Amino acid sequence: MTTINQTFATHEQAEPIASRWDDVYAATLSEPELLLYRSNLLGSDMRITNFGGGNTSAKVFMQDHLTGEQAEVLWVKGSGGDLGSIKLDGFSTLYMDKLRHLKSRYRGLALEDEMVAYLPHCTFNLNPRAASIDTPLHAYIDRKHVDHMHPDSVIAIAACANSKALTQSIFEGELGWLPWQRPGYDLGLKLEALSKAQPELKGIILEGHGLFTWGDTAKSCYEITLGIIKRAEDWIAANSKQPAFSGTRFAPLAAEERKALAQRLMPLLRGKISKDEFKLGHFDDSAAVLQFVCSNDLVALAALGTSCPDHFLRTKIRPFVIDFDPAKPDFDKLVAGLDEALAAYRADYIAYHERCKHDNSPAVRDANPIIYLIPGVGMLSFAKDKATARIAGEFYVNAINVMRGANGVDTYVGLPEQEAFDIEYWLLEEAKLQRMPKPKSLAGRIALVTGGAGGIGQAVARQLLQEGACVMLTDIDAEALENARHNLQKVAGRDNVATFSANITDESQVEGILAATALQFGGIDLLVSNAGIASSAPLEETTLEMWERNQAILVTGYFLVSRSAFSMMKKQKMGGSMVFVASKNGLVASAGAAAYCTAKAAEIHLARCIALEGAADGIRVNVVNPDAVIRGSKIWDGKWKEERAASNKIDSDDIEEFYRKRSMLKLSVLPEDIAEAVYFFVSEKSAKSTGNILNVDAGNSGAFTR
Ligand SMILES: [Zn+2]
Repeated sequence: MTTINQTFATHEQAEPIASRWDDVYAATLSEPELLLYRSNLLGSDMRITNFGGGNTSAKVFMQDHLTGEQAEVLWVKGSGGDLGSIKLDGFSTLYMDKLRHLKSRYRGLALEDEMVAYLPHCTFNLNPRAASIDTPLHAYIDRKHVDHMHPDSVIAIAACANSKALTQSIFEGELGWLPWQRPGYDLGLKLEALSKAQPELKGIILEGHGLFTWGDTAKSCYEITLGIIKRAEDWIAANSKQPAFSGTRFAPLAAEERKALAQRLMPLLRGKISKDEFKLGHFDDSAAVLQFVCSNDLVALAALGTSCPDHFLRTKIRPFVIDFDPAKPDFDKLVAGLDEALAAYRADYIAYHERCKHDNSPAVRDANPIIYLIPGVGMLSFAKDKATARIAGEFYVNAINVMRGANGVDTYVGLPEQEAFDIEYWLLEEAKLQRMPKPKSLAGRIALVTGGAGGIGQAVARQLLQEGACVMLTDIDAEALENARHNLQKVAGRDNVATFSANITDESQVEGILAATALQFGGIDLLVSNAGIASSAPLEETTLEMWERNQAILVTGYFLVSRSAFSMMKKQKMGGSMVFVASKNGLVASAGAAAYCTAKAAEIHLARCIALEGAADGIRVNVVNPDAVIRGSKIWDGKWKEERAASNKIDSDDIEEFYRKRSMLKLSVLPEDIAEAVYFFVSEKSAKSTGNILNVDAGNSGAFTR
């Protein structure tokens, strides 16, 4: 058995912040490419800016396509995207002279949002990348290269009660300071005014938000940005009072106990918060999280809410602190208190919306928490997809770093409630949400596929991923499973695919598969039981070992996996769907394969029994019967192929053609055909079907169900 095979970048970096600029490489780059190079360097270190946060720009002279003359063009990170992975097409390009002309259109702070609609009129070279709301902030600072970063260390200073005085004393006049203001056109004008009034400045701290820095060249801008962030980090490290967060209140549970608690809790919690939308979960018990959730300040600081706008847009203004005493761990007590505490959180969130809303504010959105803090255990985060849940968790780690830094040197202050609301329910933000594509049919669903390394298993996984599900693949063949993971992550991304190698005939290993699925994604909705073997021998030559092997994998294995999945589905109270990939041979007796046919028949009957027991809980169980799926099959690779060829008196190379001709429709059955049928049964398309069998065999009259 192996552990879940997934790694992601973390906040913990061993090396101190230092320039990674390569002069030799940089000499080969054009001005826009230098901007890209600088952006990727900055965005790949979480201490410099958080995921998707911050933006960079350069003002470049380029030939105008219409006039042939030189035009000054602002290259600035476009709307959305992440600096660490941005490419040149992630930047929007705008005429500087047109951006300057916009000032004549500005009618004042109350109407600043209308300026966003003018930005597309400033586009250079028909660039389709939408300009971000931060564009005027870069345009109006009269410097060639500008960086805007969200470093935890600088935000910590920006979120202190005495932020202005601290900025002055730490940076000795090199940085200016502006009070909190929502990013928009007006803030661009404020940045312009301050940078003009104090030309000696290297940058400006925005209260409760982040950092602007600039330079004459891409390299000097990059190095000034790094230098300021390093100074902030060093100063906080040297001046923080210890211990952080007023010291430790609880000792953390041991790592294995933390995981065990999280995997038991996640399906229960998921069921309670997924009434309107299926959620996916993420667990984090890194050192920064544990220090915070075990500290004396946990409850008081969590109540203050987060500061930087990026943070609370991802995490909601407040996290949900679960009542749990790791010194006397009582899981049942924790669970017993959950409903009431969640109801109180939701009521509080709705009251916040009521208090702060304007006449034209969007309606209240999902009132459930995103971030869940458990003393002694760690942090859970839940969102509509796995990447969003993981990133929300990472953002809360940013918020923890900010609170630790600010409280270490001064007093941390969250953003005023009304300001937070005005960003969370900003009409421009709402418009962005409305533009998002409709969720896919299996969005938010968690699927477990057994036999996941084989041809049918991978085809099924690929289809479920395409339809928006997250997939846990399991297989006894660890090496083949690793290959499957690589193939699938290439098309579906790292977040949505996980693997766990195990033997489905072993009761405790099967429990391990389900525990890993819950810990990785939050629970289970869809089970595709697909692990298989085949054997062939006349009755008298069927050994007891062969008989028992068929029973162990095709009957006992299916029983163990479905029993564990069934139990987790019942705990979640979200229904569920199981599909058993059986065989035509479960319906049709076949000479010379008694052990296999009998086991497949038992498998089909097991599915019907579970369908009967699961109906009351909305758990559907159906069977897909493939026949002669040869391509990509691990079963058909070896002895079985030889045996079936011999039994049908043909050459083993002709076997696919033999089965095609034998079918009623004269078609070969492919793994993708089976995946299509499995998808039908796991999706809402078959919401009213359970206990059914669908043959995917290109037609075989012996297998007609009756
Ligand atoms: Zn920002």
